[in-house]
Amino acid sequence: MASKISVLGSTGSIGTQTLDVARMHDLKVTALTANSNIELLERQAREFHPKMVAVLDLGAAAQLKIALKDTDTEVFCGEEGIKMAATEESCDTVVNAIVGVAGLVPTLEAIKAGKNIALANKETLVAGGSIVMKAVRESGVKLYPVDSEHSAIFQCLQGCPENSLKRIILTASGGSFFGKTREELRNVSVKQALSHPNWSMGAKITVDSATMMNKGLEVIEASWLFDCDDKDIDVVIHRESIIHSMILLKDNAVIAQLGVPDMRIPIQYALTYPERLPSPAAEPDFADIAEMSFYKPDYNTFACLAVCRQALRKGGLYPTVANAANEVAVDMFLREKIKFLDIADIVTEAVASFGGKSGNITLDDILQTDKETRIRVKNKY
Ligand code: NAD
Ligand code: MG
Repeated sequence: MASKISVLGSTGSIGTQTLDVARMHDLKVTALTANSNIELLERQAREFHPKMVAVLDLGAAAQLKIALKDTDTEVFCGEEGIKMAATEESCDTVVNAIVGVAGLVPTLEAIKAGKNIALANKETLVAGGSIVMKAVRESGVKLYPVDSEHSAIFQCLQGCPENSLKRIILTASGGSFFGKTREELRNVSVKQALSHPNWSMGAKITVDSATMMNKGLEVIEASWLFDCDDKDIDVVIHRESIIHSMILLKDNAVIAQLGVPDMRIPIQYALTYPERLPSPAAEPDFADIAEMSFYKPDYNTFACLAVCRQALRKGGLYPTVANAANEVAVDMFLREKIKFLDIADIVTEAVASFGGKSGNITLDDILQTDKETRIRVKNKY
């Protein structure tokens, strides 16, 4: 079980819920980081007394340094500061709750420093799965999934003999636009995309849920975590988000993990594994839930899911390209520079026009491909 944690991205949706869990179980917090939200970071630092905090934005870091000068918390800045938080000497577990591929290098640094990882930052595995899993194997650290579907699968697998898994069944809520046609999606607004039926999350992942890119990223994430291929991972729409995912075993028995949609359950399991401790999340009331529904995903309307599966089958740097194109597209959509359906078109086009690279992939290849893809997409719009 984790006892001293560094929380990267502590001001976000997963970061603040991680601190709920830390508060409940008296976990020691040794480092916190944020992009630029220093008001919240200051409050967190005053409550949890970390040894250090890091802020990506240099100006915001300078302001926070002044604000925290009556405390023992040191303030660092930039990517170097976040790297220091990821490798902070006294911590045993790093919770990576950064959004986007910006989380990849801190994850690798933490693994190299011998830290266990509680990973919410799925883009880490999508863009850099091969090198991250290799680093985990070589260093012997543990990597625990925080993403609710992957935590569910991890929980379901407890006690199953090795080689008993037939397929993974990832559940998907369907996001804000389930059941809509392409025509109906043509002019949807940012506000509509951001109103998720079941989960309250950061803006990027909420848009990813609406396009179903999130499920595509999760198929790739699952392939690395559970060592399986595209064909071994089914996706089923489950509107109520009560079943967080399932495993189909070789004897066709299915094991599912259920609970209310509250990320503090998977966050806590990643921190307290294998223990089951009281949770700040509520119990489910099945009579109240009453019904659970299931549907096939619409791969034509929500093309991002199909493109991610294709990128996974192609392997190599294709998932890196899909992720980078999506990050730029979602950012442009949130700033109302492009329309909702453009996101899927951009990701599709980026993957289709990528030349690929064979042989061993290095971190430099991944970072370079990420950068080139971003430039290519930005130049077009
Ligand atoms: P969020 O936007 O609410 O928070 C992101 C955090 O990362 C913030 O603290 C922000 O300051 C920091 N950050 C942003 N850009 C950064 C950068 N370039 N460098 C360093 N720090 C940066 O996001 P979130 O919803 O908490 O999601 C975080 C990650 O967890 C994502 O990868 C997401 O896909 C994954 N995830 C989230 C949920 C959820 O319920 N929110 C569920 C499953 C997985
Ligand atoms: Mg998820």
